[in-house]
Amino acid sequence: MSDRLPGFSTLAVHAGAQPDPTTGARATPIYQTTSFVFNDADHAASLFGLQAFGNIYTRIGNPTNAVLEERVAALEGGTAALAVASGHAAQVVVLQQLLQPGDEFIAARKLYGGSINQFTHAFKSFGWNVVWADPDDIASFERAVTPRTKAIFIESIANPAGSITDIEAISTVARKAGVPLIVDNTLASPYLIRPIDHGADIVVHSLTKFLGGHGNSIGGIIVDAGTFDWSTGGKYPMLSEPRPEYHGIRLQETFGNFAFAIACRVLGLRDLGPALSPFNAFMILTGIETLPLRMQKHCDNAKAVAEFLAGHPAVAAVNYAGLACDKYNQLARKYAPKGAGAVFTFSLKGGYDAGVSLVSKLQLFSHLANVGDTRSLVIHPASTTHSQLDDAAKVKSGAGPDVVRLSIGIEDKEDLIADLEQALGT
Ligand SMILES: *Cc1c(COP(=O)(O)O)cnc(C)c1O
Repeated sequence: MSDRLPGFSTLAVHAGAQPDPTTGARATPIYQTTSFVFNDADHAASLFGLQAFGNIYTRIGNPTNAVLEERVAALEGGTAALAVASGHAAQVVVLQQLLQPGDEFIAARKLYGGSINQFTHAFKSFGWNVVWADPDDIASFERAVTPRTKAIFIESIANPAGSITDIEAISTVARKAGVPLIVDNTLASPYLIRPIDHGADIVVHSLTKFLGGHGNSIGGIIVDAGTFDWSTGGKYPMLSEPRPEYHGIRLQETFGNFAFAIACRVLGLRDLGPALSPFNAFMILTGIETLPLRMQKHCDNAKAVAEFLAGHPAVAAVNYAGLACDKYNQLARKYAPKGAGAVFTFSLKGGYDAGVSLVSKLQLFSHLANVGDTRSLVIHPASTTHSQLDDAAKVKSGAGPDVVRLSIGIEDKEDLIADLEQALGT
């Protein structure tokens, strides 16, 4: 064995997996079972008391899901991970460990539309209050900090316009405030950006997008960087205080640098219940094996399409951080040197009507509410994903009425450009 550390592409194929010990199966088997037989009564008791690691019941953990967890933790450079049923489930489970009713968290205003909704409405009913800040104005995060602030939440490459967030600058604010920085890394994937290298304490993903990558399975994951000290100031009682449901153990004291991932599993997933099906874990694992190949092609195609649009007479503006003239190009060069992702927006001189007409004329692009598929996708955010926002908030979050969002797939770029050309009606 060489002592070389495996590279990203090797980890994407191998991390967490080995031939099945009983059958020799080389692909990770789908352990389609609800429960697992205990060796004896002592073994059962030690599993339930968190004195031993092992399988109990698929709501809490499953061997197929465990391979996925280990793989994504390795790709992100974290200590441990927890797979859940969706990206939104990951967000609920993370914040449930951090916030008590009446607490606050600061979130970047530029977010996936569903996250804006979840934070504004669903979380309010839990007594968790979101305070918005502008990712282009780092001081706005500092100003938003109060004694009740428990976390900061940002996207690395942000919806809907694919803008790049200055993760290091915001992690400095989080560190000063003594709260963890949570980064939604869905649009970048660890192939383009590894937020933990830039100061993130927790990374979340919608696995539904580029990690699964084929538009066929919903899933989410939480990665623990192992960097945050949960015991300071009694701010995080779920992690620092004795847990009555586990014989009074303290999770931080017992599990050290993967205590957060354990809390998400044994307090969040166990009690809230959003378990990922092992079948979906298998589909997503298979997708991850080709992540580096797909992601590079997604980015190269996106750049070619963005350049084409930037030179088209019907186009008013293109927001793609990979273009040299884009306002996020400096940040893209720093954080995502391999490519600025594959999701971006552009606006049409013909405004709202031209956007609607374009969407209806495109043939190769599918009109739907998803990103990160092998197929190229198009949507008009103002009338769909961001329609719940008022007009001012739409513009602020980058989803004005004239804006069209693309998620560029891995087809031949010439075909994508030809489709856009005919739909723009030249
Ligand atoms: C899709 C998405 C989510 C939500 O994930 P689901 O798997 O649909 O629940 C969260 N964040 C971002 C950036 C997304 O693109």
